[in-house]
Parts: sequence; C-alpha cells; structure tokens
Amino acid sequence: MASQEDVFKKLVSHCKEYGFVFPSSEIYDGLAAVYDYGQNGVELKNNIKKYWWDSMVLLHENVVGIDAAIFMHPTTWKASGHVDAFNDPLIDNKDSKKRYRADVLIEDLIAKYDEKIDKECEKAAKKFGDSFDREMFCATNGRVKEYVEKRDAIHSRFVNAMEANDLAELKQIIVDNEIVCPISGTKNWTDVRQFNLMFSTEMGSTADGAMKVYLRPETAQGIFVNFLNVQKTGRLKVPFGICQIGKAFRNEIVARQFIFRMREFEQMEMQFFVRPGEELKWFEHWKQFRLRWHKALGLGDEKYRFHDHEKLAHYANAATDIEFQMPFGFKEVEGIHSRTDFDLSSHEKYSGKNIKYFDPEINQSYTPYVIETSIGVDRMFLSIMSAAYCEEQLEGGDSRVVLKLPPVLAPIKACVMPLVKKDGLPEKAREILNSLKFDFKCSYDEKDSIGKRYRRQDAIGTPFCITVDHQTIEDNCVTIRYRDTMLQERVEIDKLHSIIADAVNMKNLFKKIVNQ
Ligand code: ATP
Repeated sequence: MASQEDVFKKLVSHCKEYGFVFPSSEIYDGLAAVYDYGQNGVELKNNIKKYWWDSMVLLHENVVGIDAAIFMHPTTWKASGHVDAFNDPLIDNKDSKKRYRADVLIEDLIAKYDEKIDKECEKAAKKFGDSFDREMFCATNGRVKEYVEKRDAIHSRFVNAMEANDLAELKQIIVDNEIVCPISGTKNWTDVRQFNLMFSTEMGSTADGAMKVYLRPETAQGIFVNFLNVQKTGRLKVPFGICQIGKAFRNEIVARQFIFRMREFEQMEMQFFVRPGEELKWFEHWKQFRLRWHKALGLGDEKYRFHDHEKLAHYANAATDIEFQMPFGFKEVEGIHSRTDFDLSSHEKYSGKNIKYFDPEINQSYTPYVIETSIGVDRMFLSIMSAAYCEEQLEGGDSRVVLKLPPVLAPIKACVMPLVKKDGLPEKAREILNSLKFDFKCSYDEKDSIGKRYRRQDAIGTPFCITVDHQTIEDNCVTIRYRDTMLQERVEIDKLHSIIADAVNMKNLFKKIVNQ
C-alpha cells in the first residue's frame, strides 16, 4: 500500500495536472506558499464558498454578509493586537539555514509520541479483542507508560512556555529532546525569536509622507469595525451575526504542505454578537452547527474531531478547532472562538467612538460578546480533495483515479459525449448540453474512446457522463454513467435534468444540517 506521504504527493500533482491548483507565477519558478486555482479548482472553490455563504445567510434570518476592503486603517491592527502580538516563535538551523516555527517542531514531536502510543494500542486491541481497555493498557504496559510520561512531560513544559511567552524555554525543550533539523539532521539551532506575520506596504505618495498599511491577516476586523453600520442600517437585534468571505495574508515562516499553509489565502468568517453571559451557550451552538455543516458533505464522520484549546488567547474564554484527517494527520480546518467583548471594546478605546448596543428587551446598553467561526477556504478545499482522491483497481487489471467529490461541489456536473463524431450524434449531444447548461456547469467531449473520456471525467470528479449513440436519435434515450459505481443506465433525455438536480441540489445538504 502507498504511504500517506506518497498519496499526498500524488494528490498535489493531480491538482496540477487536472487544472485545480498551480504554483503561482510558475514560469518564474513559482513563489513560495502562493498558489493559483485553475479552471476546475476555481469551480470547486466557488462551490465551497457558496455552500458556506448560503448556509449562513439562508439558514439564519439573523445572519447577514458584508464585503470589507483588504486595506484598513492601520490603527485597526493596533486595536486588534496584531501589531504587538501577532507573532510566531521562530528558530533557524545554522547548518541547513532553514527556518522553523519552534512551537511546530515541538508539536510534531508530541504528535510522534501520540502516534507511537496509538500504534501500540492498536496492536494490543487486536490481540485482546473486546476485553481491551485502553486506559488500563496505557497505565500498565511498560513501553507505552514510558511514551505517555514523556509525551505528557513535554506537553506540559510546552504549554507553560507558550503561556509565559518564554522563548528561552521553548529552545530548551528543543535542545533537551534532541529535536533535529529534518534537512541537515543536526541540532545546531539559533535562539528562538518572535516574528510578526503581517505584510505591510505604503499608501499614498511619499512626498506627503506615506502611511504604513497592512494587508489584513484576517477578515474578522472588517466585521468589527462595521458592527454599528450593519446593526443600525439593518435594524438588527442581538443575537445576530455578520459573515464575510475574503482574502487574508500572513507572512508564514514555515510554508509547507501545499495549500494548507499559504501566505495569501481566503477565509470564511462569521462573528456572532450576543448578550454578555450568553456566549458559552452560543459557542456550543455554533460548534455543533459547524460540525454538522462539515459532516453533511459525506466525506466520513470519523474524519473530523474537535480539538479544544488549552492555551486560550488573552481575549478568549473558550476555543476549539475542527480538525480534519488530512494525509499528514489530523489538522485544523476551522477555528471556533468565544472572543468575549475584546474586539469591540478595543475598537471603542482606540477610535474614541461609542460602540455599544442598546438592548430594548432588557433596557440596557452593553458591548456585545462575540462568537467567531473562522474557516480557511483553501484548507477546506484540501480536505475535500484529500478525502475524494481515490485510486481504484478495476476488474481485468485496469485501474482508475477518481475524485469522489460530493456532487454538489463538483466543478462539472455532467459531461455530454456523442459516441462518434458523425451521423448527427454531435448535434444531438449539443442539443442536450444546451438544455442543461442554464442550470448546471456541463462540458462536451467527443475526442478519444468512450473509456478514455470516462477516465478524464473521473479524474476531475464529474458525477455524470451522458452518452449519445445511434439509438438516441430513434428513442430519445441516452446512457447515463455514474462516477462512483461506474454503473450505466438507459434513461430518457427528459429525465436527465431531474436526475442531476437531485444529486447536486444544496438544499439536500441544508436539510441534513438543520434536521439533525
Ligand atoms: P494555524 O495554527 O494552523 O496557523 P491559526 O490558528 O492561526 O492556524 P486562525 O487564525 O484561527 O488560524 O484562522 C482561521 C482559519 O484560517 C484556520 O482554521 C485555517 O483554516 C485558515 N488559515 C489560517 N492560516 C492559514 C494559512 N496560512 N493558509 C491557509 N489557511 C489558513
């Protein structure tokens, strides 16, 4: 069996080969951690965004959207804390000259121990069957006990160091645990330093004195500074939410894992404003709603888990990540944070404007508390692609690569193919395409054998192939071929629209989210 690493490599090249994701400015050898979406990628990405946007604004009458600018007044980032505290602890290996995030090196080490513990437990579970008790096993088996103790010791030192912002201790953890640079294999490390992740540029002509502005590192602040604009003009009552999709920029130190960690990426964020004291109830509500949104896609419930934060940001009183099982382990796709009244209060302080809400029901004025849900479009894209990518061995020694994308997200919903390029079949195929194209993104393919054409569509995840043959001209029926099962069926042309519509209608997912 191919290792997960191999699968990931194949996925990355598949994304390029089939027009999903290209390295940015590739003719100049690319730009690290910046990517472009190709003709199929952009369709998938747009569908993800639509799924998210509609799930917010259609399913909730008290959630509305905005589209704020990327540039914001520089004081925004003072108020949000990004100028002073949006830092990553970085460390360099003196031999390879490679730069790493110190916290990531330590987290990776902890994950290695977790993997070892899991492996031992799996082995033992197989051996002992139903009577296996993981907790007892971890507490008594000599080897596992040692792993657990080591893991816990590193973990607690790490949490304390992060909490105290103790950079020397972070380095000491790396030294004590003999963490080596994956490139040079040496332990020749620099000290750990803080590094601000915001990109800056200048606005205005230099003659008048240019102003230093930042490329926003998150979309959230565009929502906070517009809180009163939206609340007043929309006559919205707490609780209500404002959502936004847009680009964000971070000068990530360790750019790796393809589109998982990019320097320019896209976020889908929602800030939900609630009465002080009610935030934890809403935090739980949104946690569950967001998980249902993910699961409704049908990529496999076991691929998701919550990871509650032990180290809370200074402004948060609860935080969790939704993690997805990527080929390189469970990783954060979305963050859900209870941000208290930190942002609105801080903007009130820095702007000198009153940013309070008068609650007519309790006759009180207050600064609302905030629950944030924040998901990266690109990470979501990667999680869907990694769950969908499938290499299948077929009968007769043949094989195929198929993207089992949820049909609702597939870039192309149906491909119409005349069996041959003559006898009026192309014309008939075009007629069918024209009848479907107002509702569904469809394609037309008449090149090569039908088998090859099916494979091309499998590789980009097209759920339906529709073949027009000589009999079609006589009986108005076509062969519809289903991507996942490869089953073929003869259906009337008039039925095509409803077959496709049933499979790709977002309404079906929304019903799942709401009714669960
Ligand atoms: P990480 O710990 O992985 O750096 P984060 O906790 O800093 O992520 P948040 O600030 O909570 O991330 O951002 C919310 C979401 O935005 C993340 O869950 C992720 O999906 C996405 N995101 C953040 N940074 C990046 C990036 N560099 N590239 C792609 N997506 C990102």
